[in-house]
Amino acid sequence: MVKAVIAGASGGIGQPLSLLMKLCPLVDELALYDVVNTPGVAADLSHISSTAKITGYLPKDDGGKAAMKDADIIIIPAGIPRKPGMTRDDLFKINAGIVKGLIEIAAEVAPKAFILVISNPVNSTVPIAAEVLKAKGTFVAEIAGKKTGSELTVPVIGGHSGETIVPLFSQISPSGISIPDDKYDALVNRVQFGGDEVVKAKDGAGSATLSMAYAGYRFAEKVLKAAKGEKGLVEPSFVYLPGVPGGKEIAEKTGCDFFSVPIELGPNGAEKATNVLGSITEKEKKLLDACTTGLKDNITKGVTFAHNPPQK
Ligand code: ADP
Repeated sequence: MVKAVIAGASGGIGQPLSLLMKLCPLVDELALYDVVNTPGVAADLSHISSTAKITGYLPKDDGGKAAMKDADIIIIPAGIPRKPGMTRDDLFKINAGIVKGLIEIAAEVAPKAFILVISNPVNSTVPIAAEVLKAKGTFVAEIAGKKTGSELTVPVIGGHSGETIVPLFSQISPSGISIPDDKYDALVNRVQFGGDEVVKAKDGAGSATLSMAYAGYRFAEKVLKAAKGEKGLVEPSFVYLPGVPGGKEIAEKTGCDFFSVPIELGPNGAEKATNVLGSITEKEKKLLDACTTGLKDNITKGVTFAHNPPQK
């Protein structure tokens, strides 16, 4: 029996992600948690004739605990969108508090669950999650999914926003494909700022939700398949490197304890980190320098928040 939970299930990412998880044959039970609207979303999805049993929970009557109890996998897109007049820092503080609260519940009622964090800013919310789990003594390895192409695969390392994202086009597979020099900078920019492209195209009506839901689903599906024993599943994942075999040397090299590299998934979640830094090009080295500078600050912000949350 596999129980999956989505926390933030009524949102722009949460709803399509709930739909995909409802269709997933690897899921027997799907619990939806949000501060609003989960009874409605669950009722709607219950009309789909797939096997997963679906339930919706709200905060009342300790709904968070009831939803997450004994879960095998918990996916967290919960948060609030940025409103006019809000700074990034305001957004960070609110989403950081939401993620911290959800992880505390997860640590208590589902200490063995795989936890996938989608809530932004991921560069800081994943460190918060890891610190909370470490403090509770339930930490194994924290993971957050990332999108990769379905036919061409380009390892994307580093963090999850802007310059912290580093595509390694020199390690594209199948090999033999090279990016012309005059197209390189523009392509890197598209990878790093792809989210902005969607915000612009939606013109005030939101951000990337459907593609993000699919990326989250794809990642969750691989985690569940690996947990069942399927071999050879590798996915770029933003993880706590010292907690993953092979990760320590990458952490030492980059100066970042949290960093995305191709991670081999297995029954214990993140099982092996691949060091792809050995063969990077000069151009990629420059991207990596810019990445680690920004990423270190993002990580420190999350770790500091986890230990000293602002008093209300
Ligand atoms: P996105 O586009 O990133 O999915 P949304 O704002 O549409 O952003 O969705 C975020 C969801 O998270 C909303 O449905 C919101 O109600 C939910 N949410 C906010 N705070 C919490 C919380 N503490 N626990 C669970 N869900 C939450």
